[in-house]
Amino acid sequence: MNIPFLSFKKMNADVKAETLTSFEQFFDKSWYILGDQVKQFEHDYAAFNNTQYCVGVANGLDALILALKTLNIGMGDEVIVPSNTYIASWLAVSYVGATPIPVEPRKETFNINPEFIEAKITSKTKAIMPVHLYGQCCEMDAIMRIAAKHNIFVVEDNAQSQGATFNGKLAGSFGDINGTSFYPGKNLGAYGDAGAITTNNQVLAQRTMVIRNYGSQKKYYNEELGINSRLDEVQAGFLSIKLKHLEQWNSARKTIAAKYITSLQGTNDLILPQLADGATSVYHLFVIRTSKRDGLQQHLQQNGIGTLIHYPVPPHLQKAYADLNGKKGDYPIAEEMADTCLSLPMFPGMTDDEVSYVCNQIKSFLHA
Ligand SMILES: *Cc1c(COP(=O)(O)O)cnc(C)c1O
Repeated sequence: MNIPFLSFKKMNADVKAETLTSFEQFFDKSWYILGDQVKQFEHDYAAFNNTQYCVGVANGLDALILALKTLNIGMGDEVIVPSNTYIASWLAVSYVGATPIPVEPRKETFNINPEFIEAKITSKTKAIMPVHLYGQCCEMDAIMRIAAKHNIFVVEDNAQSQGATFNGKLAGSFGDINGTSFYPGKNLGAYGDAGAITTNNQVLAQRTMVIRNYGSQKKYYNEELGINSRLDEVQAGFLSIKLKHLEQWNSARKTIAAKYITSLQGTNDLILPQLADGATSVYHLFVIRTSKRDGLQQHLQQNGIGTLIHYPVPPHLQKAYADLNGKKGDYPIAEEMADTCLSLPMFPGMTDDEVSYVCNQIKSFLHA
């Protein structure tokens, strides 16, 4: 068998006819930037996410940067981030001139451990950025309580968890202003780069709309130093079509995850992902841990199974962050995750037989 890490086949088939029609309409209309399609998608996504406002932007990193800029977070400020995340979460903080302050995750859930946050709060802390990693919503009740107590903002990085919940409330609807990504491989992916911010605050939504478009509301009148980070009309049209399928695709992912868990339970030297009490996951990724990670990955590769490592190097050990003087041992949990994690194939359309084959290959390697 040959099982890719990710296949768009089923998702593309679900939307192909409607997407091609949408493209033809877009093409004939000759309106490419900030038109009806962007407005429609912003409306649709806000409704899906149960937030008052959504503002479409160029990508997920920009969404986080714009969220922080909108809150006036910048030079001299500190933002709490997880020690184990995709580097974009940290980069957004760095790009506005603030300093990322890492907090270690819980090993069981991979998400930031709320118990470690307060010790890292200083007079400079302006915000907490919880990252809902691999599809699971963070423990948002504890995080919101800490933020309220210290009067600091919450900016969720919801790039991986569109549709996940904590105590029934959706990821991306807790924070003051939140970022998400529609990178093609995300649960809701465009056919190119795209992202958005979500918020319940009208003033903040309005300000993000201005900053994303050169600081301008009225053409050629610039209120502040903005940037160009707009969501394309054509991508917005595609995203509105795909959004109608998102719940069904997320539930397909959950079904696959449940099968992995049932079948892999009790395997030697294998740690399965766990949900925190109250949290759900939309399984953007299905990430297992084992001390035999590299051997297992090679075995799966030799048997036609694609896997990836999210992520092999934690941000504090990346060359890009050499200035922060991070060294091995600073964030041992993040480092352990990086050394032991492996992401298994996970995509809507993955068949029962494919899941069984992956599980059997894992068990035959770890039990050998
Ligand atoms: C994908 C991702 C981003 C960035 O999104 P882009 O659209 O690629 O810029 C940010 N944070 C996390 C956790 C991500 O997975």
